[in-house]
Amino acid sequence: MYRFANGAAWIGGELVPVAEARIPVTDWALTHSDVVYDVVPVWDGAFFRLDDHLARFRASMEAWRLAPPEGPEVIRAALHAVVAASGLRAAYVAMVAARGQPLVPGERDPRRCANHFYAWCVPYVHVFGADAAARGVRLHIAEGVRRIPPDSVDPRAKNYHWGDFTRGLFEAKDAGADSVVLLDHAGNLTEGPGFNVFAVIGGRLVTPAEGCLEGITRATLLELAAAEGIDTETRALPRSELAEAQEMLACTSGGGPVPVTHLDGHVFANGAEGPVTARLRAAYWARMAEADWRTPVAYPSAAP
Ligand code: PLP
Repeated sequence: MYRFANGAAWIGGELVPVAEARIPVTDWALTHSDVVYDVVPVWDGAFFRLDDHLARFRASMEAWRLAPPEGPEVIRAALHAVVAASGLRAAYVAMVAARGQPLVPGERDPRRCANHFYAWCVPYVHVFGADAAARGVRLHIAEGVRRIPPDSVDPRAKNYHWGDFTRGLFEAKDAGADSVVLLDHAGNLTEGPGFNVFAVIGGRLVTPAEGCLEGITRATLLELAAAEGIDTETRALPRSELAEAQEMLACTSGGGPVPVTHLDGHVFANGAEGPVTARLRAAYWARMAEADWRTPVAYPSAAP
């Protein structure tokens, strides 16, 4: 099989098969989860909203005082290079900034670490599985863990601090659900591991304002809803309000919007996809095909 068929990584200026990409055991990326990242989807041979993902990545790096030597053009070229090497037409493409190793082994000064950038891609990821849109997703609200507060780890910087999500995922899987949504300490919904959430309440599309990543799929859906004449509200969403919701949906670059049919004991839209979700899902996939939002991948002219 072609070396890069399962994906490729760009690390230290080298392209390697994704399964062979390595970072040192003393890198703070590993020892302290000291990493920010972003994920841009490639669909039908083009990046979707690449500049928005690059801008969010830059903001995440600044928030964490990460300054790898690779500048914007090197980062952009690395993203093209990994996808081009893999030949993938639909891919999950990650860009990562890591704190790196301390300049003096054992030193505890975050300003004195060799920050570095790497990128990798694998075949397109559907966070909830490829058939989630058809069957609907079952979510669980975690009882035993809350989202880490934004004044401890700001979720607007996309990061690898997933201890809260992982605990929540164990709870959800043990309860027979597909995934988890975490509340904040005031009892408002935040987000789940790899996705934002919306509820349709009285015909309005509501999504949490704070305590979550400002997801690019979430932004796309807010724009599409406005264009479709659906009222939107970005505000605190207390768990208690979900009892009145007609629909719920989850959204991510890894699969777009998907209907949530069950939230613990609550069933939305009789266990099927609701009409607002269906409209937004159709509009999302139409937008994924629009040239204005796409950056074609610089594939080599000869197929790999
Ligand atoms: N929330 C978290 C914690 C995420 O990790 C992600 C994406 O991976 C999202 C939300 C959705 O963001 P986006 O739509 O930009 O993929």
